[in-house]
Amino acid sequence: MTVDHEIKISDSEWEVMRVVWANNQVTSKEIIDVLEQKKAWKPATTKTFIGRLVKKDMLQVERSGKRYLYSTDVNEADFVKHMLKDLFENVCNRQKGGMIAYLLSQVPLSHDDIESITRILNKKRDEAVDVVPCNCLPGQCHCRTIKEK
Ligand SMILES: [Zn+2]
Repeated sequence: MTVDHEIKISDSEWEVMRVVWANNQVTSKEIIDVLEQKKAWKPATTKTFIGRLVKKDMLQVERSGKRYLYSTDVNEADFVKHMLKDLFENVCNRQKGGMIAYLLSQVPLSHDDIESITRILNKKRDEAVDVVPCNCLPGQCHCRTIKEK
C-alpha cells in the first residue's frame, strides 16, 4: 500500500506500529508485552491503540485458530518519509535548510550516512540559490507579514 496522505497516527499508535514493523506478524499479546515493558501501558490501553490502527487500515488482522495475528502492508521507511514531508510542509521553504542542518547536528551518523549526505550536498551545491524563495501566504511566516502586503 502506498502511504495515504490522510493517514495521521499518534505517537502512541506509532509505538504499536514499531512492534509490528519489527516483527512482521504479531499477536496482540506480543505487542502488549513490548509496550508494557517500554511504556508501562495496561493491556487495555494497548488494545485501544491496536483497534484504532485497524480502523485506520494501518493494521490488518488475520485469525489463526484462537489467536488474532496483526500485520501491516505499510512500509516503515515510506511511512516515516511521508510523515517527515508532511511536517516540512508546515514550514517556510526558507527555513528548511536550517532545520535540516539542526537535525544533522543532532543525529548519530555512520561513515556511509556521511558519504550519501555528502553526495546529495555536492549535487545541491550546483543548484543552490542566494536566497530560497518563500512559498508562504503573507501572514504565515516572517518573510511576508500581513502588513507588508
Ligand atoms: Zn516564508
